[in-house]
Amino acid sequence: MNLCHPDSSKSCAACCGLYNVNDGRRGTLNSLLIERTLAFRNLSRTVAEICDFSVSSGARQLISQLDPEIHVCEYAGFVDDSYSTVGCMLHPNAPGNKGIDFRGLCHYGSMACKSFFCPASSETHETCVIIANRLITDWHLYGLVCTDINYMTAIFALTEMILELPIETEVILRPNPSVILMELLSWKTSWAFAEKSLTRRSAYYFKRFDQPNNESGLVNNIVDSLCFTFDCLVSSNEANAMVRRRVMALADSCKQEMIKDK
Ligand code: SF4
Ligand code: SF4
Repeated sequence: MNLCHPDSSKSCAACCGLYNVNDGRRGTLNSLLIERTLAFRNLSRTVAEICDFSVSSGARQLISQLDPEIHVCEYAGFVDDSYSTVGCMLHPNAPGNKGIDFRGLCHYGSMACKSFFCPASSETHETCVIIANRLITDWHLYGLVCTDINYMTAIFALTEMILELPIETEVILRPNPSVILMELLSWKTSWAFAEKSLTRRSAYYFKRFDQPNNESGLVNNIVDSLCFTFDCLVSSNEANAMVRRRVMALADSCKQEMIKDK
């Protein structure tokens, strides 16, 4: 399964610097991307116009960068007509490019853009990928969840630890458990403990690390992951208790479904 662009309802562009801005909330990014996409679609595809766009779009949109080491690419935009999938506007398949690859004109150069794949794209467990793809329909949430291997892995590991059974994809995707899981995944864009934060940071450059084999360590990892996303510190007791309650509810809901099957 293609983690970057799994279907026509959503996609990811985190490694193009999409979330590396001080205000990474959905509404802000959505407006920025729409404006950028509309401007790009009006360009004739000449080297001069594409290069000029790089300068003018950066200046016009006054992007406030979060991590100065990570480039925020001005060519990331919407690549479909319904403005639901984000991606590279220089890609040969992007609207208006007629099969021509313009990625050589960007900051990283063509080879880097073609060959880069984040750790999540190869290290995420297939079950997590399938479930995230089935549940998430929005690009903003999808890009934050699919690139954070350790968030998904810790939620699933904790659920299995409480259940004392492996998660069955078909069970967790049923209406009752999936509502609870979706709530947990949605915390990556909106979390009660970080209401004031404008930051939505993607963990796309982190590798998968070994998860602890105890409940409190897994709960800590989930909270740490959320704190990284929102660039905040929280009272661990309250946040940990909330995470534990929701994951226990998820495990309980899965158990109820399994009992119905007996
Ligand atoms: S961050 Fe990973 S999943 Fe997202 S577009 Fe880049 S390579 Fe694909
Ligand atoms: S040019 Fe490269 S960095 Fe920029 S949007 Fe395209 S793939 Fe991403």
